[in-house]
Formats: sequence, C-alpha cells, structure tokens
Amino acid sequence: MPAQRLDGKETARLIRLELSNRVSALREVRGKAPGLTAVLVGDDPASAIYVRNKEKAAREVGIEGTVHRLPASTSEAELLDVVDRLNADPAVDGILVQLPLPDQIDPNRVIDRVSPSKDVDGFHPENVGLLAIGRPRFASCTPLGVIELLRRQGIETKGKRAVVLGRSNIVGKPMALLLLQKGAVGDATVTVCHSESREIPEIVREADLLIAAVGRPEMVRGNWIKPGAIVVDVGIHRRADGSLCGDVVFDEVAEVASWVTPVPGGVGPMTIAMLLANTVASGELAAGIRP
Ligand code: NAP
Repeated sequence: MPAQRLDGKETARLIRLELSNRVSALREVRGKAPGLTAVLVGDDPASAIYVRNKEKAAREVGIEGTVHRLPASTSEAELLDVVDRLNADPAVDGILVQLPLPDQIDPNRVIDRVSPSKDVDGFHPENVGLLAIGRPRFASCTPLGVIELLRRQGIETKGKRAVVLGRSNIVGKPMALLLLQKGAVGDATVTVCHSESREIPEIVREADLLIAAVGRPEMVRGNWIKPGAIVVDVGIHRRADGSLCGDVVFDEVAEVASWVTPVPGGVGPMTIAMLLANTVASGELAAGIRP
C-alpha cells in the first residue's frame, strides 16, 4: 500500500496560525512584537533568498523581522561587533547569522558570540549542550521541525529503531539528540550513519524510522526500506531539469513505507516554522511568560 504523505506545508501553516496568537499575547504583555534579526554577509544568491523568505514568514505571524546586510568584504571583527550590538538590543529576541560566511570569517567564532538566549538557530554550544543533557532550550530548526511534524501527525517514536543518515551539526547530530530525549516523540533507539559507515543499506533496513540527511540526491532506494517504516527526507536538491528531489527516491520509497515526507512540501516549511517558534519562545522567555 502506498505510503501516506507527511504534509509539512499544511502543518507549518497551522503552526504559523498558532504563533500569530502567541505573538498577539506577547504584544499585550510587553507592548511590542518579538523581534528576529537576520544578518546576511555578502551576496550569495541562495542565502539572499533564504533570508528574504525568513523575513517574510516572520512578518506574516507578526514578528518584527529585519535583515542586517553587510558587504562581502566585512571583517570578522566588524561582524562580531554587529552581533554584540544585537545581543544588547532589547528589541531583538532572535538573531540568525546566515551561513555560509565569507572565507575571512570563522563561523565558529560568530556562532559562539551570539547570545545563547537569542540563538534561535540553536547552534550555540550552550544550547547544543543543553539539548545533549536533556534540557533543551533552542534546538536546531530542521531537526526540531521533523520532531514537530511527527508529533502533530500522532506518530510516536518511543521504543522504535531510528536511523539518522548524516551527522552534521545542523541536522544529523541534533536530530539524533532529539530522538534520544525522553517523551513520545523521543525515546527512540538511535543509530547515526555518516560517510565512513559501512553497510548502510543493511542498517537502514532495520529502521522503523529513517531520517535521511546526507545531501546526496536520491541515494536511498526503495529496497533499503523496511515495510511500514516512516521515512523523513531532509535533503533538497535541484535536478538538471529544474525539478526538486530529496535524499530518497520518493516513488520507490512510497511503495514500501507507511509515511513519507514529500520534497518540496515536507521538512522545508517546518524548518522556517521552527525558526519562528524559537523566536516567539525567546520573546516569551524574556517576558517571563514561557508556557
Ligand atoms: P552536510 O553538512 O553536507 O552533512 C551531510 C552528512 O551526510 C555528513 O555527516 C556526511 O558524512 C554524510 N554523508 C555524505 N555522504 C554520505 C554517504 N554517501 N553515505 C553516508 N553518509 C554520507 O549536510 P546538512 O547540512 O546536514 O544537510 C543535509 C541535506 O539536508 C542537504 O541536502 C541539505 O540541502 C538539506 N537541508 C535541508 C533543510 C531543510 O530545511 N529542508 C535544512 C538543512 C539542510 P561526514 O560527516 O562523514 O562527511
């Protein structure tokens, strides 16, 4: 039986509606909307599009979204100075520095400089550490979006065998940590694979839940999937003909899995929704009304 689709687009729309209400409540308490500032260095076209989409999504839920644009020649010291000013600005609840940064800037120094209480990307070592010890504050938006998508669909991961393909700091590692948290969408038995892992298809065949985040177009084939497994495809790639695909062969996987995320319309919209959710949560924490 073909798999059901895990609809990230519709789920993200519902989350944005809820966030609009939380923004209104926050506005009443504080007299101002939560603020999200994106810092964009240079003129990478893909980064410019990502930042514009985030700013637009923020404004749609009532968040004060702004973009701080800096030239490609910006030095590390200049960027750190901007981050310091945003850290000190009470109108700013969330800061995101769009990656990648130009070569002269060490991204780790910038990630470390963002105030952990405004780090809505969840990249700061303090927030990663809190996640690792089971006290999450801000978790990375893409894996957080995966968890929220499963949770809202009523899919439990408790006791399930989960395989995460990829170990990046942005997706794979925080994904594994989230699936290890206690709770209905956690409590999984987690295996993480990477480019040096052996016998990946055999490992994937044991997965009740597969999260594919390898960044390799259509690497995961239908015959890797355990019948009835849940498959979440984080990958996003543009084919030569302009169409999009993920890290799994969608048509093959959909024949075997019970649930599968489409690309586009799966994890992507959830990522942006979680950025907004983290920003609202940051405002609520600052106002002392975090539920
Ligand atoms: P990344 O930093 O390139 O990490 C890829 C990971 O996959 C690495 O851990 C790498 O292993 C592993 N890997 C690469 N080739 C492999 C192979 N043949 N077999 C096993 N493991 C392999 O990528 P990322 O930032 O995590 O992103 C992953 C994908 O998700 C990309 O397609 C990206 O565009 C997409 N993405 C989507 C969203 C969204 O909102 N939808 C957000 C973020 C990312 P090593 O560590 O050994 O190198």
